[in-house]
Amino acid sequence: DAALAVPDKMVDSVCPYCGVGCQLTYNVKDNKILYVEGRDGPANHKRLCVKGRYGFDYAHHPQRLTRPLIRRADAPKRVDMAMDPERVMEVFREATWEEALDLVGRQLTRIRDTHGGKSLAGFGSAKGSNEEAYLFQKLVRTGFGSNNVDHCTRLCHASSVAALLEGIGSGAVSNPVMDVTKAEVVIVIGANPTVNHPVAATWIKNAVKNGTKLIVADPRRSDLARLSHRTLQFKPDTDVALLNAMMHVIVHEGLVDEGFIASRTIGYEELRQNVDGYSPESMAPVCGIDAETIREVARLYASSKGSMILWGMGVSQHVHGTDNVRCLIALALMTGQIGRPGTGLHPLRGQNNVQGASDAGLIPMMFPDYQRVDNPAARQKFEALWGVPLDPQPGLTVVEVMNAITEGKVRGMYVMGENPAMSDPDASHAREAMAALDFLVVQDIFLTETAYLADVVLPASAFPEKTGTFTNTDRLVQLGRQAIDPPGDARQDLWIIQQIAMRIGLAWNTADVSEVFDEMRRSMPTIGGITWERLQREHAVTYPCTQEGDAGQAVVFTEQFPTASGKARFVPADIIPAAEKPDAEYPNVLITGRQLEHWHTGSMTRRATVLDAIEPDPVALIHPLDLAQIGVRAGELITLQSRRGKVSLYARADEGTPPGAVFVPFCYYEAAINKLTNPALDPFGKIPEFKYCAIRILPGGDA
Ligand code: SF4
Repeated sequence: DAALAVPDKMVDSVCPYCGVGCQLTYNVKDNKILYVEGRDGPANHKRLCVKGRYGFDYAHHPQRLTRPLIRRADAPKRVDMAMDPERVMEVFREATWEEALDLVGRQLTRIRDTHGGKSLAGFGSAKGSNEEAYLFQKLVRTGFGSNNVDHCTRLCHASSVAALLEGIGSGAVSNPVMDVTKAEVVIVIGANPTVNHPVAATWIKNAVKNGTKLIVADPRRSDLARLSHRTLQFKPDTDVALLNAMMHVIVHEGLVDEGFIASRTIGYEELRQNVDGYSPESMAPVCGIDAETIREVARLYASSKGSMILWGMGVSQHVHGTDNVRCLIALALMTGQIGRPGTGLHPLRGQNNVQGASDAGLIPMMFPDYQRVDNPAARQKFEALWGVPLDPQPGLTVVEVMNAITEGKVRGMYVMGENPAMSDPDASHAREAMAALDFLVVQDIFLTETAYLADVVLPASAFPEKTGTFTNTDRLVQLGRQAIDPPGDARQDLWIIQQIAMRIGLAWNTADVSEVFDEMRRSMPTIGGITWERLQREHAVTYPCTQEGDAGQAVVFTEQFPTASGKARFVPADIIPAAEKPDAEYPNVLITGRQLEHWHTGSMTRRATVLDAIEPDPVALIHPLDLAQIGVRAGELITLQSRRGKVSLYARADEGTPPGAVFVPFCYYEAAINKLTNPALDPFGKIPEFKYCAIRILPGGDA
């Protein structure tokens, strides 16, 4: 009985779920986690949400992969698979590590040598450590010979990063979440922190209690809206209209910070002219927010001593995601609301290490530390460090890889800890693409929907089974420590990556995770001052930390921006509609996202006893008026259908979801909602439009 057992060891680590990066302690007995407690970390001060506190026993789940698996020659790759873990052996046979790794090495080498390095691609994971991300991208770049490496940042904040790099020279946050407690005004837009960043939401609630004015802007009304000074439930897909109208007010009422604009920015005149055409009166019918409310919120934001903007994927996951973020950046720049405590721009990062994985170069156009692959100086630096010539062409992004498979350009893949069969838009297309590969190797802890399509499955280590660094949404590099051993023959991911590297011709012999971190420090100036010893001692260090002994900078851009001129750039944006608007055939809008108890594609949380008990079934959140219109009661089955697929799931009445729209979490394999989503991409960030596509709602279940 876990409640009565006394732990025989306590291991300090961090939470494996969201980007808040709560520190916790695993209480362990006989290689089993009994319970988890919050630690006094900079981001959580002992607080944990339901996922951090109860979402740990997935690591002990009987469905954990414990032996390498090789696909049976006669086992078809079924893209409409109904997952049945009890029948795994009908599809795969167990193998030794030697046999499985040799097969992986032989197949990847054959494809590379026959069709060239660009015929291979790798997806790493924002769930892995910085060291795993770094070694994985190094393997693809030096072993495959291309930059075809990406991960789920492409699906969450790629557009935010594109706009931030373009505008202010850095893709990370300017201020930590905790700065909301120092702000007079906080805008939360396109984010639902009580669900997706729960402990961060508690700091926002504390700030409101102490007088901070909270503005919540989102097409769905979230729990946080109950505490807001103003709630802007704008029409889906109209972010640019709303934000440009706010800027129009700020310009026309003389609320701009002229000193800041003159000394710290370029391009203001072009932006000023652009927002001139977006008066609140003309944009009110477009975005659904009355002109006076737009004026009031604009004045509040511009005039306060400190205003901070936090945003999530409601902003980024659109074909105009980069434009949405350009507007947020422009708002902060024109009012000088950046570069001081209690101000700034904070894209709430999703997964626990999506910031770190991006920093470590797990993206197709950048080496570690966002050094562009098509920059000759950056390339020479990494060629000298890694000892091989490198491809000067940016590689393919997540969705582009799937299209390239269909076109016969990509023939082999290595997927580590990601589940594109569930997380990619138009998931049936993604599954068909992966099923068509000459060779797919998947490294994971469960037989995910992606692993089910693999030729070889390699059993990996769960979060508490390894040591490594993880970077949270605040740019805080934190140490996750091994608390338990992997089950059976499962191995640590760093070991697996290196074994594959050696079998495709790379002479790697890094023994310890700290050696990988040391190599990262040598190539990444922003973390150059962080030593492994310091991390062991202090548990967490904020970057930029360029010299040993630096305290690290929680608030950046205080004097200048990390751009060539030291100044930030205004980039105007105009209204671009969603790629697929509702019509007579598909009259409703689908918005996808997450729910509190489950994480991403659900492979971990749906195997965590407490979390699965709270939310066991796939649900669709629909306004009661829409339910009444189709004659369905809450709790009954409905079917959602788009031009790409259909799923059946349970209807849940939700007054926060606007009439005409449906919100569905993407964690349920039984109703894989990404079969419906649109793979249309933002042209800059290459992020798919998960927050908007046309569907119809049918009573009953027939999918
Ligand atoms: Fe984990 Fe995020 Fe919850 Fe903190 S807020 S416990 S990091 S899921």
